[in-house]
Amino acid sequence: MSECESGRLHVATGSHGSSPRCSLFIYCNLTRRYRVTDCIPAHCAAVVTSDTRHKFRRDNEDLEIRISGIPVRGVEIDSRTGCVHYRSAIDIVAIKFNCCQTYYSCFYCHQAETGHPAQTWSHSEFEEKAILCGACGTELTIRQYLECRAICPMCGAAFNPRCELHYPLYFEP
Ligand SMILES: [Zn+2]
Ligand SMILES: [Zn+2]
Ligand SMILES: [Zn+2]
Repeated sequence: MSECESGRLHVATGSHGSSPRCSLFIYCNLTRRYRVTDCIPAHCAAVVTSDTRHKFRRDNEDLEIRISGIPVRGVEIDSRTGCVHYRSAIDIVAIKFNCCQTYYSCFYCHQAETGHPAQTWSHSEFEEKAILCGACGTELTIRQYLECRAICPMCGAAFNPRCELHYPLYFEP
């Protein structure tokens, strides 16, 4: 690892490919080492600031991350919005719920945490930005998402096409 000036580390990625990438880092007071924000252990949570773009833990619970500065909640949520219910390489979309205006990884995470019924988005609200791509961090409008054929229009990442089966949970049919 080598540190560069802009507060980023160049990390030679192992499992993610052969080319180096640049990641934000935080400084861990306990180990006195810099860590890439994708892999923050619980004892580092205290030193993660709110503008850290990637994962942070609140009260040592795996309930909230930030993507592009936007809080996304979910049970055992990972840095690409995977959760305990859906965690494949293509489960990378978070959905904002109309009832509480909060992003969750999935319907069941919202249900588990809030205890209130989910309010679906009506047709007149399809221009609202309510979908967050966990790969590039872009907020999409509901219409963009419904028309994207399971490919992020901004970064080209593949979304889970089977989410289509669950549209009525989130959107007015
Ligand atoms: Zn809600
Ligand atoms: Zn979930
Ligand atoms: Zn994207």
